[in-house]
Parts: sequence; C-alpha cells; structure tokens
Amino acid sequence: MYEVVILGSGPAALTAAIYTARANLKTLILAGNQPGGQLTLTTEVENFPGFPDGVLGPELIELMKKQALRFGAEYKYDTAVEVSLKGTPKRIKTQESEYHTQAVIIATGARSRYLDLPNEKELLGYGVSTCATCDGAFYRNKVVAVVGGGDSAAEESLFLTRFASKVYLIHRRDKLRASQIMQDRVLSNEKIEIIWNHTVEKLIGSKETKLQGIELKSTLDGSLRELKVDGLFLAIGHVPNTEIFHELEKDQLGYLIPAQMGRSYSSIEGVFLAGDCVDHHYRQAITAAGFGCMAAIDCARWLGK
Ligand code: NAP
Repeated sequence: MYEVVILGSGPAALTAAIYTARANLKTLILAGNQPGGQLTLTTEVENFPGFPDGVLGPELIELMKKQALRFGAEYKYDTAVEVSLKGTPKRIKTQESEYHTQAVIIATGARSRYLDLPNEKELLGYGVSTCATCDGAFYRNKVVAVVGGGDSAAEESLFLTRFASKVYLIHRRDKLRASQIMQDRVLSNEKIEIIWNHTVEKLIGSKETKLQGIELKSTLDGSLRELKVDGLFLAIGHVPNTEIFHELEKDQLGYLIPAQMGRSYSSIEGVFLAGDCVDHHYRQAITAAGFGCMAAIDCARWLGK
C-alpha cells in the first residue's frame, strides 16, 4: 500500500515525486508509455531556469528523476491501464501488476499529434519539432514551416518570426481555424507566407543530414511540390493522455478539469491533477513542474502530512 502513486514521469510527475518523497510519503512513480514524457523528444532546453548554458531534454529529466529517487521515491517502468479512483484504497491496474494507494497524482501529460510520416520520429530534434518555444531559437535566420491552421499554428508561426528569416504556414484548407485576432496577426506579418490547401507528404532528410525540405501536396488538384526548409514545426494539436480516467471530469478535448480553478484538486477525494493532462495553455516544462509541486503539496495536506 502506497501513500501516493504518481502516474507519469515528465516534469510534473517528477517534481510531485520530489515533494511527496521528501515529505516522507511512500511514493511510487509509474512511468507510463513514454518514460520522461515529451522532454525526452526534444534536444536542447534553453529556457529552464537554473541551466544558463542549456540542458538536453533527456538529461534534465534524468536529473529530476535522480532527485526524486534520492528522497526514496520508487520508479517503475510500467503503465496504468485501468484505475478505480473513488474511495480508499485506490486501485491501479498496470500492464505488469496492480497497486493500491491512498492518494493519486495524475500527471500523464499530453502527446503531440503527428503527421504519421515514415521518418518523422527519426527527425524529431533534427529539423522536426513540436514546440517553437522550445526550439525556435535554433532557427535564427533560417527558413521554417509550420503545419496546422489552429491557434497553436498561428502562435508558433508568430513566435518563429522572431528568429527565422521566413515562416511558411501550411494549412490543408483555405480557412484558418485560429481565433480572429490570431488570424489577423498572422495575415499581417510580412515574414509569414501561408500556403493554403496543402498537406505535408514527405520529409526530405535524415538524422545525418537533418531536415532538408518537405514535399507538399495540393488538396485541390493533387499536384506535388518541394519546399526547401530548415525546420518543420508540427502544430496540429495535442492529445491528452487521459483515456483511462473515466471517473473524472474532462473538457471536450479530453483534458482533465480541476475541481477549482488554479488548484490541483480533482472532483474525487485524494486524486490530484498536474501538468499537461490538465493544462493546454502553457505546456512548458517549468509550468508542468510548478503544477507538480502544487499537486504534491495539496496531496500531502490531504493525507494530513
Ligand atoms: P486545433 O484547434 O485542434 O487545430 C489543429 C489544426 O491542425 C487544425 O487547423 C487542423 O486542420 C490541423 N490538422 C489536424 N490534423 C492535421 C493533419 N493530420 N494534417 C494537417 N493538418 C492537421 O489545435 P490547437 O491549435 O493546438 O488548439 C487546441 C486548443 O487550444 C484550441 O481550443 C485553441 O483555441 C487553444 N489554444 C489557444 C491559444 C491561444 O489562445 N493563444 C494557443 C494555442 C491553443 P483543420 O482546421 O482542417 O481541422
């Protein structure tokens, strides 16, 4: 019987574990399908405080994990597949076993939606990115493309104009889904050129050469063309990893809803929420870590510790 089981192993989960383990709570971290979370898919992180020379995403996660383990948290490479959260103990069935706990912190994160192109995952961190805030600064005076037509794509394109010499925004339709204000900003920015009615069909390049360009296909006549770009940013939405939480309240996109705005409590006693499975606005390692800290403090207080 654990006092806290933390689902997830990104910055929210590991920060929560640092706090609960340090508060002497018997803590188990269940790493999930993507141990370390989205940070393990990026290369250098330059905006996490405390690392003036930057730090590699996987290294940052490893350091957080080490810090949590130092205080006695247990870490298992296992994934929750079914949960029963009401009452005590709470039961968590995993791929390998079943765990019982007094409290649960859900920090399962979100995954970026991908185009599902053959070498897309190989090129992550080598020209393909899912986060302009994280990787934009690597494209100073370079040509980049953003794919998507929603607020994220608009926001990423605008952010990238700070660095890149040219930003192509590639959208599969002839109308953006983004809010009017974001559309206006995109349309009036001289550095952004929208390529309407096109999808990305192929990524040209390899880990060795990095991304060299992309092949685009017209959704109107099927014609193909190549576009030389140094970077491609995917902004076609995120999917929160919340499928197994049937007892909790979610919004229409599947994000978990806290019982009270700005707090980590869920609608179920002893269940706390943190990070990108709740937050689709900030989505930063540092904000996720902050949410993890909040959840751990709320959890420890709920347990009377
Ligand atoms: P989104 O609104 O779901 O937009 C996703 C975009 O990607 C859509 O334009 C969609 O095209 C396109 N898309 C999806 N799958 C694709 C594929 N396989 N190939 C090519 N294009 C594809 O996602 P989001 O932009 O991440 O926004 C999510 C939520 O967060 C929204 O509610 C948004 O308002 C909010 N948000 C707000 C802000 C802000 O206020 N500043 C910033 C970011 C996000 P179609 O349009 O053709 O479907």
